[in-house]
Amino acid sequence: MPTPVPNAPGWHDALWQHMGQAIAQDRVAHGLLICGPPGVGKRVFAARIVAALLCRGRADNGDACGECPACRQLGAETHPDVSRLVPEETGRMIKVEQVRNFSRRLHLTPQYDSGRIGWIDPAEQLSMSAANSLLKTLEEPPARCHIVLMTDRVSALMPTIRSRCQLWRVPPPAPADASAWLQTQDIATEGLDDDSLRTPFAVLERTTRDYDALTRNWDTALSDVIRNREDVSSAAARLAKDPPDLWLDWLYRRASALLSIALGDTRNSFLPKPLEQIALKLDPAVFQPWMAQVAGTARLAHSNADWQLVIESLLLNLKGSLKRRPAQP
Ligand SMILES: [Zn+2]
Repeated sequence: MPTPVPNAPGWHDALWQHMGQAIAQDRVAHGLLICGPPGVGKRVFAARIVAALLCRGRADNGDACGECPACRQLGAETHPDVSRLVPEETGRMIKVEQVRNFSRRLHLTPQYDSGRIGWIDPAEQLSMSAANSLLKTLEEPPARCHIVLMTDRVSALMPTIRSRCQLWRVPPPAPADASAWLQTQDIATEGLDDDSLRTPFAVLERTTRDYDALTRNWDTALSDVIRNREDVSSAAARLAKDPPDLWLDWLYRRASALLSIALGDTRNSFLPKPLEQIALKLDPAVFQPWMAQVAGTARLAHSNADWQLVIESLLLNLKGSLKRRPAQP
């Protein structure tokens, strides 16, 4: 779930006005289907709704305060009343067993009286049986529960799912509005044509997915954690916000490179110096089980597992497996 962006996109304003009123008057539908073309900020709009529904001290326009305990927990992705239903692997369908677990969690007593939130993304990837299983919960939702579904393609949803949700259509921006907003996100807009500007969130994602910049940050985080310059939980909180697939892929390749160096193969090392020095001190036998954990983590990336805790455990075990080699005689 994205954290609401600091400068809400202006082209969401009119839609938000309606939602803000509904929230203030406590008449938000149980099932909310957030649709619209790709790249217009549907997930940001949905995250804004979720934050507002959970917040204990909302602003006059219905927005979350960002400061109360519920807002802080949501920001740290530790809010106890939020359940996510997403494909186990990118591009796969959401399975019926996942829906059953999800529905069971929604029926648990919430920790806060604001009620439970279900987040389904992307809704068009519910398999037929998963969608059928979800119908029951959409028809008779637990008290105060809200289920937010995201889709780029309303037409791909079962009509029975659609008819049980209130539709919120996020419009594409006028290119000039998108350009102004992208600049507030520190993104240069020269050279972008109008088609790109109609999908500003796609532009934002491409820029923030600047792989070189990401891997530089990750390399620093990894060597800082190993050298006790950053504690594991603060590093994990930061890393959990980055794209899980990219991060895991990077981690696996870093782990393999560390292991080859630990095994004495220093040819073709592309590791940054601090990591290379760490690798030279590794005991391969202690390091290998950790690599197995890295390989097994992929399936958790798109599950309902608390991703930050998964990362924390990986980093802790890495530190634990770094027994220094006995000094060579
Ligand atoms: Zn709040």
